[in-house]
Amino acid sequence: MRGLSGKTALVTGAGSGIGRASARRFAEEGADVVVADVIEETGRETVGLIEDAGGNARFVEVDVSDLASVERMVDIAVETYGSLDFAHNNAGILTDFVEVTELEEERWDRLIDINLKGIWACLKAELPVMVEQGHGAIVNTASEAGLVGMGGLASYSASKHGVVGLTKTVALEYATRGVRVNAIAPGPTKTNIQSGLLGGASGSSPTSLRERVGTAIKLLRTAIRTLRADFDTSAMRDVPMDRIAEPEEMAGAVAFLCSSDASYITGHTVPIDGGQAAD
Ligand code: NAD
Repeated sequence: MRGLSGKTALVTGAGSGIGRASARRFAEEGADVVVADVIEETGRETVGLIEDAGGNARFVEVDVSDLASVERMVDIAVETYGSLDFAHNNAGILTDFVEVTELEEERWDRLIDINLKGIWACLKAELPVMVEQGHGAIVNTASEAGLVGMGGLASYSASKHGVVGLTKTVALEYATRGVRVNAIAPGPTKTNIQSGLLGGASGSSPTSLRERVGTAIKLLRTAIRTLRADFDTSAMRDVPMDRIAEPEEMAGAVAFLCSSDASYITGHTVPIDGGQAAD
């Protein structure tokens, strides 16, 4: 991929799944990588994987829903590597699978704070650095749920539609200032994100076993398109290519959108979905 080697890439949510694959791909392409995540242990694991492969990376703890924390992350990235050429704003959670009237206010707020406000906070901190240095490329992680509605995922789908709108708007605002802004819309991808849905580590509040089982049953009953199909073949049926994605298949698109091969592409959300959007 042209134009990535020797540059600095920042990836949020890089302790797992798509973010980890993206961080590793940037490092393979010769970039220095800032691995940012709210969970230190998994973030440091990603750094270890990159270093074991001969790459260069450092971990920064961040909560993307907190602007001050995000600003600190960007400051550390620039202090460490001297520039911020690429940013993959990727951290996100999926905590509920319920009808809109069952959604609790604090759960709505928490998800929107991470998935949508978190992208805004990253853009707010990253853009001045990129404008100052005269160049930059940003990729936000949206979702297929940001392009179409999905029953049971009101807050998630609203947050991801917001990411798509934010991406278009910021791309327009910065089109003449050397910064390109795009998004990816992953289809179902093999990651841990559904552990958040079941009360796991993806930033959700701890829930009782009873609540978690109840949520899981709702999920299984109403799963139209689950975000992980290891245990549920319904998502597979919705994917024309008849398989779910590997995180590395998202990372390839992120690397391309940041590369100089994509120098005239801005404001787009690219579905990476095995053909779902064509259906
Ligand atoms: P994942 O759970 O494997 O990774 C998400 C990472 O984000 C985790 O390391 C987690 O610790 C981190 N994170 C959570 N809250 C954070 C916060 N407040 N601040 C910083 N980091 C935080 O899930 P994933 O599937 O790799 O998800 C990455 C992105 O891809 C998310 O935005 C998700 O919505 C999106 N996505 C995933 C799928 C899928 O099927 N896996 C589909 C469409 C979109």
